Amino acid sequence: MYGKIDGEIINRLVAISGENNVLTCREEVCGYARDEYVCQLEGCAPEAVVRPGSVEEVSAILKLASENRIPVTPRGGGTGLAGGCVPVHGGIVLTMQRMNRFIELDRKNQMAVVEAGITLGEFIQAVEKEGFYFPPHPGDEGAMFGGMIATNAGGSRAVKYGSIRNYIRGLEVVLADGQVIHPGGKLIKNSTGYNLVNLFIGSEGTLGVITRAIVQVMSRPTFLRTMVIPFGSIEQAIDNVPLFFEKGIVPMAVEFVGLDVISLSEKHLNLTWPTHQGEVHLMVIVDSPSEDDLSRLTDQIADVVLENGAIDVFVADTPAKQSEVLKIRSEIYEAIKKETVDILDICVPRSEIPGHVRKIQEVARKYDLWIPVFGHAGDGNVHSHLMKAKYENGQMVPISLDEVSQRLEAARMELFQDAASRGGVISGEHGIGLFKKKYLPLSLEAAQIEVMKKIKQALDPLGILNPGKIF
Ligand SMILES: Cc1cc2nc3c(=O)[nH]c(=O)nc-3n(C[C@H](O)[C@H](O)[C@H](O)COP(=O)(O)OP(=O)(O)OC[C@H]3O[C@@H](n4cnc5c(N)ncnc54)[C@H](O)[C@@H]3O)c2cc1C
Repeated sequence: MYGKIDGEIINRLVAISGENNVLTCREEVCGYARDEYVCQLEGCAPEAVVRPGSVEEVSAILKLASENRIPVTPRGGGTGLAGGCVPVHGGIVLTMQRMNRFIELDRKNQMAVVEAGITLGEFIQAVEKEGFYFPPHPGDEGAMFGGMIATNAGGSRAVKYGSIRNYIRGLEVVLADGQVIHPGGKLIKNSTGYNLVNLFIGSEGTLGVITRAIVQVMSRPTFLRTMVIPFGSIEQAIDNVPLFFEKGIVPMAVEFVGLDVISLSEKHLNLTWPTHQGEVHLMVIVDSPSEDDLSRLTDQIADVVLENGAIDVFVADTPAKQSEVLKIRSEIYEAIKKETVDILDICVPRSEIPGHVRKIQEVARKYDLWIPVFGHAGDGNVHSHLMKAKYENGQMVPISLDEVSQRLEAARMELFQDAASRGGVISGEHGIGLFKKKYLPLSLEAAQIEVMKKIKQALDPLGILNPGKIF
């Protein structure tokens, strides 16, 4: 049983973080009851929201919470898509928004030191101003570093550059009892004991509160080109993806998108995509420090795709054209969000992408569903969207959730099972959070889940950190 927050605890929280940074009024705390997952659970409001301003405050709050067995749910930008920051057991939501300092850019080591509440957008601006580059780019720049680390966020550039895990060199973490630890450092190599940095990356706020991070940055690739390649079918488009890698071409991003969702995004933004031929398009981004090399890469890709079913190849070679294409691609979610019930985040080995995408088509036909699929084709992270709508004559036609919910659940299970049969997992970048935990045994052996539970028990014996998540 968890403890309740009474007047005495509120007074102590106010003494730690100040009156303005402890919210208890119903209207205010309700805003911290959800994230960006489309269907939210009702009745999850926290009893208090606390905005600490320093690691000392986070430590004192956790000490108080553990003494009184009060649940603490860390929250970043609230852009998560798995209900990870939803406080299912009430208690305290610890929002990191005040701890948003960019502390240092160490040019010699090419590393930045930041507080957990800095947003991706603020971070990109700060490093780019100094001539550096940070490749991981989960789609919403309102995400905060603590949240991105806690979910091991990815994004479309993971094909070439990897996910957040590849860039975090050190952390400051407050443990459930208030102790502060500093695993890692400004180090490229480190084989000194268990890798605790990696343990906290992807731990979804269940093992500790991340307050600071040492982040690897890199030199900026000077030239970028975006290609849009139309195909007659999704199978043809997807079958091309493994061919790039077989030929030794590593694009920065390979995304696939259907014309159905592109048209909806175009209408939503009043912008125009370079072509409306075919059914499914690959959007390929290549980068290089040399313009000649970039031309060689785009020529090679054009040769591969034109030999393998592409209808045409369009190259956006100016920053303006590129940003228009990227804008349309990145706003698809906004355009279809209203009728989206779930965004699956399955990741399969790259060689299994064509097979898994075929399965999605088969499941859509079997259950008479519209399942638009778009996402990071190059890294195996296939985002199928479970919709309560049909796509007819260029329009999204809503269907009541009651009418489709059983079919959606059956489709979800079949797709998760298909991923497992291909050596894949149910989450490649969004995390398990609240909404995927019942499916975890489809991805992990029972013995692995047991090891994870023992780690949780060792680090948080009272179960106060983000209870109700992952397991
Ligand atoms: C339009 C859109 C596009 C997206 N595209 C992508 C994409 O391409 N790739 C991708 O990976 N994700 C994507 N996401 C999902 C989301 O942006 C990421 O999951 C992001 O990493 C969440 O960061 P956040 O700060 O919003 O975390 P929150 O949603 O606030 O929290 C997420 C989890 O992290 C924990 N947490 C937060 N801060 C801390 C902390 N300081 N210490 C410990 N735990 C903490 C929370 O408890 C929770 O479990 C997208 C989301 C949207 C809305």
